[in-house]
Amino acid sequence: WQRLKDGLSRTSSKLGRGITDLFTKRKLDGATLEELEDLLIQADLGIDTAARITEALGKGRFGKDIAPDEVRAVLSAEIEKVLEPVAHPLVVDAAKAPFVVLVVGVNGSGKTTTIGKLAAKFRAEGKSVMLGAGDTFRAAAIEQLKIWGERTGSPVIAREQGSDAAGLVFDAMKAAQDAGTDVLILDTAGRLQNKTELMAELEKVLRVIRKIDASAPHSVLLVLDATTGQNALTQVEVFGRTAGVTGLVMTKLDGTARGGILVAVAAKFGLPVHFIGVGEGVDDLEPFAAKDFARAIVG
Ligand code: GDP
Repeated sequence: WQRLKDGLSRTSSKLGRGITDLFTKRKLDGATLEELEDLLIQADLGIDTAARITEALGKGRFGKDIAPDEVRAVLSAEIEKVLEPVAHPLVVDAAKAPFVVLVVGVNGSGKTTTIGKLAAKFRAEGKSVMLGAGDTFRAAAIEQLKIWGERTGSPVIAREQGSDAAGLVFDAMKAAQDAGTDVLILDTAGRLQNKTELMAELEKVLRVIRKIDASAPHSVLLVLDATTGQNALTQVEVFGRTAGVTGLVMTKLDGTARGGILVAVAAKFGLPVHFIGVGEGVDDLEPFAAKDFARAIVG
């Protein structure tokens, strides 16, 4: 809880301070509600959600004095309502071994780091993990994945830069099956500059995976960078269509005062949120819990 609270402190201090300033010695009326709505929109919660929360707060309290703490309590309860339906842990089905997790997202969103953190988590649970360096486009991505592999004791399947991603994924699937690995995590490219090419590559990767194991991938994780704000919404649309995203990880929530974007994404798409990233360290990946998150961001 402390790590989560610290991680979300940029968002919570902005929202929390805003609420205190707004409601100290002021009545709840049209003007304060409108200012609150602006505050929520600035935190990237989205226009619809901001309007709904503001309306809920106004009900039965209009024209009365209200303490900032009561506002915070109503706010966090309303946010929790939006988040509760999307809070799902990533459950690894041992019967499916290798349980295949395909990780997608734009470059810089935190894919490789998240893969490293996930590998560490699974290893700590006693599972064997293999990593596939499917971002064959960037030498740095391959190198970084190898470092995470060493750090977590997970073999890394890699080819030289520029080789075919689907071919690499084929190798990794076979290697994980042969080794009897519990979890195979596959990295992918994320160069959104050439969307058509990237999506074609992802489709090809998916075909190869399914050819080897018709039930795979068992999870398609989209990694979203919270600091990109509203762009996250577009990324869910773009990747959701092609890659058949089954769940989300939102990273860098520690690096933004606009952590409400997670609420906007949840409200708009209803996709499961499995984890949130609140720092660069290996332990800075938290299972997503609706109530804790809602409490943590309101300050
Ligand atoms: P990729 O290009 O999608 O593979 O992204 P990387 O994993 O290389 O991450 C890009 C940068 O974001 C790196 O400097 C990471 O350390 C950093 N990063 C990843 N996740 C988080 C997070 O949750 N919080 C913070 N503050 N930085 C993160």
